[in-house]
Amino acid sequence: MTDLAEARRELALANNIVANEGVLDAFGHVSMRHLNHPGRYLLSRSRAPELVTAEDLIEYDLDSRPVRGTNVAQYSERVIHGEIYKARPDVMSVCHHHAPAFMPLLATRTDYVPVFALGTIGGSKPPFWDQRDEFGDTDLLVVKPEQGTSLARALGRHWMVLMNRHGVTVAGTSVRECVFRSIMASRNAEFQVRAMTLGPIEPFTPGELDLCANIIGVTTGLTRSWEYWAMRVAKAGGGPRPRAKKTAPKRPAAKNSKSAKRRR
Ligand SMILES: [Zn+2]
Repeated sequence: MTDLAEARRELALANNIVANEGVLDAFGHVSMRHLNHPGRYLLSRSRAPELVTAEDLIEYDLDSRPVRGTNVAQYSERVIHGEIYKARPDVMSVCHHHAPAFMPLLATRTDYVPVFALGTIGGSKPPFWDQRDEFGDTDLLVVKPEQGTSLARALGRHWMVLMNRHGVTVAGTSVRECVFRSIMASRNAEFQVRAMTLGPIEPFTPGELDLCANIIGVTTGLTRSWEYWAMRVAKAGGGPRPRAKKTAPKRPAAKNSKSAKRRR
């Protein structure tokens, strides 16, 4: 995909999808690195991701400053995105979320463990980051550049980092991969917590982990999932709005009527 307008629509839909699947609510956001300017990224103005449209997207530099002046409200945690793009040239998309499925793990610092094949997309035991370790008592929002840098450092070469008592940050090599990882890892977290109430989890072998993590690279699963989730957004009445018709339908002539006078 090379068309920036199409990429902007896809990013807006990505926000709608991840919200529609219960990973985002009023909080959280999905961003993408700018297609033509790797030193910039696109992220919505501050609004619930289920409502985001392409028109809401703001272009930021990697210090998370808007490239063009704007008066609209902005997400306070945007440094998460900027600092990860800065640290990881291979990352093309980032999602930060507070998915309910993860909260039991985040409250107890329990490792994320893949429990089904697609759950391996979240990695095996991805790192934890505790804001308290470096910054003491905070409101847990990642708003200062140094906090974003610290989080990016914890992410390292992984694709997901768990944030104690807060949420999760996910990276991807594309918007669709980032969406897939965000949703499937949340499903896995839900299954994992339920499984732990029944007994010990039987782990994947290292070989299985490698093979399963590559499923989306060797199947049509990524495209199929995107179409499925996009369809669910459309059924819920969201997603890209149909474009306005260029010409309005003709109205019957109403000479000398009040409505005809109003239209003149
Ligand atoms: Zn957050």
